[in-house]
Amino acid sequence: MPQAEKRFDEGITPLKMRSLLRNLAHPYGSFKRQDIFAVLQHLGWHVRPTVGLQPVNLRYEGTGAAWRLHEARGAEDYRTEKDALRRLDFLKTLEVSKRPTDPQPDRAYLMDVRYEETPYGHSVTFGGWNAVEAWSVADPSGSHSFVLMPDRHARIKKRERIKPDDLMKWIRKDTDLPAQAKKLIDEHDQQRHAVVADTDSGTCGVCLRNLKLEEKRDAPLPVMVFHGYKRPGGGHTKGRCLGVGYPPYELSSEATQLVLDSLEGQVDAVNKYIEGLLSPSLTEFDENAFQYGAKPRIVTKASVPDLWKPLLQQHIERVRSRGFAVRRERDVFLWLVRTWKKQPLPTPGKQTVDWYGEGLKHTR
Ligand SMILES: [Zn+2]
Repeated sequence: MPQAEKRFDEGITPLKMRSLLRNLAHPYGSFKRQDIFAVLQHLGWHVRPTVGLQPVNLRYEGTGAAWRLHEARGAEDYRTEKDALRRLDFLKTLEVSKRPTDPQPDRAYLMDVRYEETPYGHSVTFGGWNAVEAWSVADPSGSHSFVLMPDRHARIKKRERIKPDDLMKWIRKDTDLPAQAKKLIDEHDQQRHAVVADTDSGTCGVCLRNLKLEEKRDAPLPVMVFHGYKRPGGGHTKGRCLGVGYPPYELSSEATQLVLDSLEGQVDAVNKYIEGLLSPSLTEFDENAFQYGAKPRIVTKASVPDLWKPLLQQHIERVRSRGFAVRRERDVFLWLVRTWKKQPLPTPGKQTVDWYGEGLKHTR
């Protein structure tokens, strides 16, 4: 069973993340394990420590060159019957009747342990698994997952191990993460290389884009013209941006303060919600809570008595990771409000300021 999520993306600078995204988008980019984990978490995936089962799969028969490999089988050979039987007694203590569902690390789970006489001597044969510390990697919904086995157990020949390279092969073949990474880079490039086009423009205090301003007869300051909403960072929502009608960020922090207030509210809501989930009297939860735009999907304790605990745990972790993202965004807007000072409107032909990027940089 996977445990609580461990964060690898905290403390990674935007510049470093950018180079990791580039690696992911590139068909042959290579990675260190913790870097793959960081970029996956940046894209909303989950990485948790878990225990993996590696099949016992080496069978040694006879002497010299006579090695034979069998899938998920092991065998040990002894000079005397007495030695073999003593070993048999010990290996029998590790025997289980089926594949373990909650394996403990550094333990062997054997099946079919038996004594065998071979033309070469005395042997104990068995099937089964070694339980090893591993990593579980899962998509945001938890439906697509991969278990990454450690390299340090790779010393046995032909073991069914999975290396970071194999994880990358899987990501490139079975997921759309490289495309997502490319999209993020392109969006960021656009933002970085944007130039101020209009004479009367300013930064929307909500979506932080450089947009046109208009003078309103009853307003003391110029305000943002109508535009659709596109959140910085991630996520897109159609409709009217909340910043429309407010002065630009250069002249006032009023609109940015509204976003901050809303984010503070969301942080509180997530915290309260998690508190509720931890209550022992809880009997149901909405699997889609805090998935904006998703219809509620209620899970009740009565309908899944056996799976209730793991499902609830998984749900708590998902909401926690959502809470992490909201807090991250809150920190950026808090920085924008706290450090706000009046400044000149953008000059046409000059590069626009990436305010969201600045906020990320200063709140890491
Ligand atoms: Zn806006």
